[in-house]
Amino acid sequence: MVENKRALMKETATERMTTLFERAKACAKTNPELSTKYIKLIEKLSMHYKVKVSPAIKNWICKKCHAIMMPGFNSTIRIVSSRGYVAYKCSTCGKEKHIFYSSSK
Ligand SMILES: [Zn+2]
Repeated sequence: MVENKRALMKETATERMTTLFERAKACAKTNPELSTKYIKLIEKLSMHYKVKVSPAIKNWICKKCHAIMMPGFNSTIRIVSSRGYVAYKCSTCGKEKHIFYSSSK
C-alpha cells in the first residue's frame, strides 16, 4: 500500500514536471523570468520526490542560470565531430552543455 502511494506520487510529479516544462517553453520568449521560475520548480519537484528529470526536459535546461536554451533565441549549437558531441552554449550566462551522440560505423 505504501509502495503504491509512493509510485503514484512519483507519477504525479513526473506529469507535473512535463506540464511545467511545456508552460516554461511557451513563455520563454515573452516572459523569461516566469520561465526560469517554472524550471526551478521542476528541479525542486525532482529533488523532493526523488524523480529523475527526463532527458527530453533536461537537455533543454541550462544548469547555471535555469533558463530554457532555445537555439536561435538564447543559445547556439555547435557540432564537435572529433569528440562526438553537440555543444549548446547558453548566451545568457555562457555555460556550455555537451550532449554526446553515438556514432555508429
Ligand atoms: Zn545559462
